Amino acid sequence: MGRVETYDHAIHVSILFEQGENEFKNVLLHEMIHYYIAYNNIQDTGPHGEVFRKMMNWLNSEHGWNMKVSENGKALQMAQENIPRREYLVLALSLCSGKRLLSVVSPNSFRTLNQQIKRVKQLESYGWYVSSDVYFSNYPRVRTLRGVEVAPDFFNEMLKKMQHLDIPQ
Ligand SMILES: [Zn+2]
Repeated sequence: MGRVETYDHAIHVSILFEQGENEFKNVLLHEMIHYYIAYNNIQDTGPHGEVFRKMMNWLNSEHGWNMKVSENGKALQMAQENIPRREYLVLALSLCSGKRLLSVVSPNSFRTLNQQIKRVKQLESYGWYVSSDVYFSNYPRVRTLRGVEVAPDFFNEMLKKMQHLDIPQ
């Protein structure tokens, strides 16, 4: 009947970033304002428009919260503002046994490892990639040939998302 219904909302807050409990709560409340506006089909003047800012300012001043919006006003960017955008040099290895390995390599060790890799037995294929996926923030930055074994499906998904480096053989 011309009415838009919203459903299946979810608020995800990553625990990868070091924030105190209070920062998490501010992020959560910020996202709940978005949810409130969407759920009630309120027309705002932008992602962090007049309605959003009015509610945010009221909660900040009257209830002691400390929510912010990013300067450029992009929705959902708020929670990511403190993340340093790190790039990772990723080595992806496929072994004949079916094993799939990912490794974050120290850029200084690239040349050495790129030579060593050609001598690996049971090597089916390999590739060098660049990724800024926070997934890799948990990986050690290696200087020797070692990797983390991952599920083949996950491996294939990651290869699609990463930027492939064309290395002359
Ligand atoms: Zn927002």
